Amino acid sequence: MFATNQLTNVIDTFQTLMRNNDIKINQNLQECIQQIYSFLTDFSYLKHALDSSVIVAATDISGNILYANDKFCQLSKYNREELLGKNHRILNSGHHSKDFFDRMWKKITKGEIWEGEIKNKAKDGSIYWVKTTIVPLKNESDQPVMFMSLRTDITEGKLAQEKLVTTLQNDFHHMAFHDNITNLPNRRKFNEDMAYIISNASENQRKAAVFFLDLDRFKQINDSFGHTVGDHLIKEVAYRLKAAVGTNGVVYRFAGDEFIIVFPDIETNEIIHELAKQILVLFEEVFILKNKLEIYTSPSIGISLFPEHGNDYDSLLKHADTAMYLAKSNSRNNYFVYNQDMNLQYEETLLIEHHLRKAIESDELELYYQPKLNLKTGNINGVEALLRWNSPFLGNVPPSKFIPIAEDTGLIISLDEWVLEKACQQNKDWNRIGFSHPVKIAVNISPQHFRLPNFEGVVKKVLDKTGLNPNLLEIEITEHSFIDNTEECITCLTKLNKLGVSVAIDDFGIGYSSLNYLRKLPIHSLKIDRTFIQEMAVNSDDIAIVKAITILAHELNLKVVAEGIETSEVIQVLDQLGCDEIQGYYISRPLPKKEFEQNFRKINMKEIYH
Ligand code: C2E
Ligand code: MG
Ligand code: MG
Repeated sequence: MFATNQLTNVIDTFQTLMRNNDIKINQNLQECIQQIYSFLTDFSYLKHALDSSVIVAATDISGNILYANDKFCQLSKYNREELLGKNHRILNSGHHSKDFFDRMWKKITKGEIWEGEIKNKAKDGSIYWVKTTIVPLKNESDQPVMFMSLRTDITEGKLAQEKLVTTLQNDFHHMAFHDNITNLPNRRKFNEDMAYIISNASENQRKAAVFFLDLDRFKQINDSFGHTVGDHLIKEVAYRLKAAVGTNGVVYRFAGDEFIIVFPDIETNEIIHELAKQILVLFEEVFILKNKLEIYTSPSIGISLFPEHGNDYDSLLKHADTAMYLAKSNSRNNYFVYNQDMNLQYEETLLIEHHLRKAIESDELELYYQPKLNLKTGNINGVEALLRWNSPFLGNVPPSKFIPIAEDTGLIISLDEWVLEKACQQNKDWNRIGFSHPVKIAVNISPQHFRLPNFEGVVKKVLDKTGLNPNLLEIEITEHSFIDNTEECITCLTKLNKLGVSVAIDDFGIGYSSLNYLRKLPIHSLKIDRTFIQEMAVNSDDIAIVKAITILAHELNLKVVAEGIETSEVIQVLDQLGCDEIQGYYISRPLPKKEFEQNFRKINMKEIYH
């Protein structure tokens, strides 16, 4: 930057001189030449400093080498002529996955700086490690035109790390130290290894990282398919993890679906994020088990670092576990690096879980009802049942807090069943005495529940028990319900259809990006997520999105419901777009049974939005 500014100044001076035809031109030219000389001197110092300390290369945007300094030639053992014009791939050692390079290219072609550690192969076949920073150089339109890479040789440290890992791994001989399903080292071995790693790392002032990995929904897989399938999945996961981690770290099986990965020598914190992403990517591919059974699973990962988060394996493990638990209750298929604030959140989560377990029996749960209006007629078409929890210990806990915890702990199954039965019973009573025309009740069902084999059996049982006409029940599911098991989902939806129960996709638009599945699913309506609706009156992009969803839904014979209506302006826009049903605070907040009944007549009027 410094050198470029100087050069720009010199050029500016030259141009001014040419324009002005100044009488002092000779003197000024001399000054200019002096400036160029000093700029070039500065530049050569800079280049000298760079060339003597780091490996410098420039490539075009396809990775063809345009410049290689001496250090690059020395380390790669190619001479300059052999490197220039060749693709950088000639140095590929085969160590990194395609995905690793895909992510790197994605970042630099977007014009962002990439940093990471790369294992390369020299001309003679020997291996070297370089810590690499790739800086994209961009043109006036902000497009990368060239990539400058600066590398330092970290071979020595990496080889020491590989040796350390191999030492730990070779100690695979004692039965007591191994898990017999995966043949991975076990918890006992972890404790022993960590003591060794910690003392080794302290001596060399290096960092180490502990990854605590727990499979999402493993309990459901075990419950649905049996323990043999569960064990087989664990074995396959172990295999994938071990192959991917290689000599960078050691994988341990802890218990059940818990794995630990220890990376004993971590150069920088950025590497940790890179490693965590690489592990998450491993789970994007389906696991094929015996009898061609295909199962998707994902991990939640918590990470703690030595020495930042603890000096002994107990605290490192505890902190990684805390971070994992929060990754899981947050969104799953995710990783969190530990920080101190997490302890408070963790305690709150445990507290909620503890009290939620007793909430059903203790009658602490209640249903609130929020109407859905037909936009054409102004009549109430449906009512959504929304769960409320007033805990004597914790006060009112919102669903956004306790539903994810209930999903994590499996409690959601009994919660949803409780809601389903209560809502069906209520709607049966209302339709018998209260409404002038049939009104549907909508019940939210979590993906964890909907994915259970025989979910439609649960619905049928409740319908039989309460005697509600199936046409007066609607199930709301989110896109997560069929994200990776579309076929099973279609089977279940078809059975619900046969029963006469309708299904809506809730929070539509924020989840799964592919619209292809919509054609295949036997569903009845789309509820556009409220984030699109709320900004509509002021944001034309959101109008365009809602319009596109409405056209698409109508093409597929689906009803469009807009949730989160807070103003009358939005209703007018939705009316013009041809939306079918509306729901939101502007019409009515979710209300307890009695208030809903009292307000029903007021709500059920066209004047509300005309
Ligand atoms: P959802 O199914 O999308 O429900 C709509 C949420 O938006 C409700 O929040 C509702 O109170 C809120 N809402 C309605 N109109 C407006 C509006 O105009 N403005 C704003 N800002 N919000 C509005 P709630 O009751 O807190 O529920 C949150 C989520 O929790 C629900 O989202 C649903 O996913 C879940 N949930 C609630 N009850 C149950 C249940 O019984 N079972 C399951 N599995 N999930 C439930
Ligand atoms: Mg809903
Ligand atoms: Mg919703």
